[in-house]
Amino acid sequence: MTEPIIRFEKVVKRFGDVTVLDGLDFTVAPGEKVTIIGPSGSGKSTILRILMTLEDISDGVVWVGDEPLWHEKAADGTLKPASEAHLHRMRTRLGMVFQSFNLFPHMTVLRNITEAPVHVLKVGKAEARERAMGLLDMVGLTEHADKFPYQLSGGQQQRVAIARALAMRPDILLFDEPTSALDPELVGEVQEVIRKLAEEHDLTMLLVTHEMRFAREISDRVCFIDAGAIREEGAPEELFTAPTEERTQDFLRAVL
Ligand code: ADP
Ligand code: MG
Repeated sequence: MTEPIIRFEKVVKRFGDVTVLDGLDFTVAPGEKVTIIGPSGSGKSTILRILMTLEDISDGVVWVGDEPLWHEKAADGTLKPASEAHLHRMRTRLGMVFQSFNLFPHMTVLRNITEAPVHVLKVGKAEARERAMGLLDMVGLTEHADKFPYQLSGGQQQRVAIARALAMRPDILLFDEPTSALDPELVGEVQEVIRKLAEEHDLTMLLVTHEMRFAREISDRVCFIDAGAIREEGAPEELFTAPTEERTQDFLRAVL
């Protein structure tokens, strides 16, 4: 079996007295498209935010490939807390698309996409621009390159956000409810872009969504999480049609 590209090993996350992740074990294989479903407040966003190093962990280890994310290997092989330089390097391997787009409002669409490649990866401006135009073509927005985010619809802004994440050439792309802030008529165009990405074999995708039909279409595997642990997981056709756990059944009955 191939080594996982993401591995949560007995990960605990507490906010004060509240335990949000309670010894989470979770792996994703390279190139795999995994969807996380579960009730509100179950820890789905926290998992993605930990991977983006937006939240630290209280216990356990998170691995990205053969490197620990929140730790570094010392010379004797033991793990010590990660330095800022290590975190910075690890961060470039992952990209994230948020529910609320989070584009830089004062920058054009093109600048939104070239900013991080130029300033973080030190890609030349001309090259960054060329890549950005290629990505805008992929998301169907070339004619909007010089506009500002406020001039675009929510669906267009979210497609820019996807292009921006891809511009960093991440190994892993995370999506946190990417269509739930959109008007219903704009959901399809964003799902279409994500679906196209999911058909690529190399990219590893981890998606949180409440759109069960979409999850079913694009995922290799669906994980149901409740109260900070995975309660059931499987191929979408199994989990959606014949869930074995009562909690999964209750959840699916409520959302389907
Ligand atoms: P989900 O995305 O599944 O809805 P989250 O991962 O956002 O859930 O949150 C899980 C739990 O952690 C919730 O109870 C939430 O209130 C709590 N939580 C999340 N972030 C923080 C924070 N920064 N401080 C305190 N509690 C938090
Ligand atoms: Mg969430």
